[in-house]
Amino acid sequence: MSQHLMHLYTGNGKGKTTAAMGQALRMLGHGKPVFIAQFMKDGTSGELESLKRFDLATVFEGAQLKGFFANLTPQQQEEARRQHGEALEAMIEAVSRIQPALTVLDELCIALYIRLVRQEDALRLIKTALQHGDVVVTGRYAPESLMEMADYVTRMEAVRHPFDAGVPAREGIEW
Ligand code: ATP
Ligand code: MG
Repeated sequence: MSQHLMHLYTGNGKGKTTAAMGQALRMLGHGKPVFIAQFMKDGTSGELESLKRFDLATVFEGAQLKGFFANLTPQQQEEARRQHGEALEAMIEAVSRIQPALTVLDELCIALYIRLVRQEDALRLIKTALQHGDVVVTGRYAPESLMEMADYVTRMEAVRHPFDAGVPAREGIEW
């Protein structure tokens, strides 16, 4: 059996999520199952619609946030944390069943950074997924624990981004 490795795409430049989804496309091209969960977002980003068209892609829908976490009331934030605890258990169950050759945990670093997801739950999910295939984790502010654990660590550096020149996020490019 080949070795399964962990990838971490972090840093403040553009390209982390799109690189992770490109990796998923590459694996699907070889006819292998892929599991994708996207944290922090509402599930409407274009790449998820595309990936759902592959029979061998499982796009997990249970870890979505409607709007910004910081805008939720303390009670709503607590409820979101509880829901994410359940979602992580459901992901562990799904990954054990599907045995994906690639698992993408997009924006997991941010979810850890704001303590929406418990580190112990994230580590259990990553270790379960590594039993079956490679794991890609993305997001700014990667915790030291994941930096040490990952086999591939890529830090995207923002040299220039049009957002800083006042260009708003564009459909098909930023989401
Ligand atoms: P992408 O999804 O385009 O691969 P990313 O995953 O690297 O980008 P994130 O840090 O997750 O980017 O940021 C989320 C959103 O902000 C995306 O729409 C992304 O295109 C955009 N973005 C990325 N880097 C910057 C930046 N330096 N300044 C402003 N917006 C950015
Ligand atoms: Mg991203």
